[in-house]
Amino acid sequence: MIKHSERQPELALHRQVVGAGDYYFDVIKAGQVFRILDLEGNQAADTLFYNAADPSEHYSFTDTIREQGNLYLTAGSVLRSNEGRPMLEMLADTCGRHDTLGGACASESNTVRYDLEKRCMHSCRDNWMLAIAEHPEFGLGKTDITHNINFFMNVPVTAAGGLTFEDGISAAGKYVELKALMDVIVLISNCPQLNNPCNGYNPTPIEVMTWEK
Ligand SMILES: [Zn+2]
Repeated sequence: MIKHSERQPELALHRQVVGAGDYYFDVIKAGQVFRILDLEGNQAADTLFYNAADPSEHYSFTDTIREQGNLYLTAGSVLRSNEGRPMLEMLADTCGRHDTLGGACASESNTVRYDLEKRCMHSCRDNWMLAIAEHPEFGLGKTDITHNINFFMNVPVTAAGGLTFEDGISAAGKYVELKALMDVIVLISNCPQLNNPCNGYNPTPIEVMTWEK
């Protein structure tokens, strides 16, 4: 569902451009709103969420999908934790659909899906591992890497129940906006994938903005 936001970027508390293949790692307080902006279009933002007070509680795609009765995420979606609690609500969305089924790229999946020579290519899982190693203050470890959302990624489910990675439906300037319903840790890998159309074969920067409400 396409829904625009009235929030003004110049009134944001914090703005950060995240380069192609880089990560974003921060805490968003309950009540605050943040936006992920696809600056140049067709860029997947592979995102994990944790309860900042207890990171063993994390975003759960199974709880989220079951409760909303739909496989895709868009404005109105409430993102739930592995304890079934609402963590965030999607307030605005100018892209219209976001994936939470496809998972994130990793050295292993690149090798299995594409070629043994892809084993050393930069991946989202590498990004997350680097982030948690560089920021031990968030208290996350390897086993905390779990269900994620691929904002701006187009992974339609076929009539036979299959998953396909298709050309993106995002474009330059499209965004998604979420309100934190608890203090949440946000960890985004700005996907470096070059082997499928999730980034239009050309990873580009995103921008993250945060407002007080
Ligand atoms: Zn990726």
